Amino acid sequence: MPARTALSLKALAALALPGVADLDETRAASRTCVWGGELLVNETAVDLGVQLTDGRTWFPRSCETCVAQRAYLARTAHAPMCAACRSDVSVDCPLGAELRRLVAVHTPVRYCSRCCRQIAPGEEYGTEPRQSPSGAGGATVHAHTVCSRGRRR
Ligand SMILES: [Zn+2]
Ligand SMILES: [Zn+2]
Ligand SMILES: [Zn+2]
Repeated sequence: MPARTALSLKALAALALPGVADLDETRAASRTCVWGGELLVNETAVDLGVQLTDGRTWFPRSCETCVAQRAYLARTAHAPMCAACRSDVSVDCPLGAELRRLVAVHTPVRYCSRCCRQIAPGEEYGTEPRQSPSGAGGATVHAHTVCSRGRRR
């Protein structure tokens, strides 16, 4: 799945890019994620189009985690105000559909080690060290925040 997808201006506006004046050099030069500041690799970096701010042209890029999160938040903010999106089958709303697609494309598929269900975009989760009998391997697994707290009720 190519990460380089041209975003519409509406979608970019909904994602709310920070102003270039607030950014440090590496973010403005699109070497790091415009939101989280993570170092970017070309294979996974998401192009956020050409921005022109105060006569300065810059090419913001994002990591997949941040763009998925921003798109999810943007859709959450947009949906209550939009009749097409409230129905949750947002085929009639190009912006809603685009934001949904962004979330879907850029959210890595993770499964909760406790309940074994997929961790959906917007659900809170954390990492836990994997229980390994041999004690070898420092891998971590993911779990919903609610699941790792244990179900008390
Ligand atoms: Zn990021
Ligand atoms: Zn909509
Ligand atoms: Zn879970």
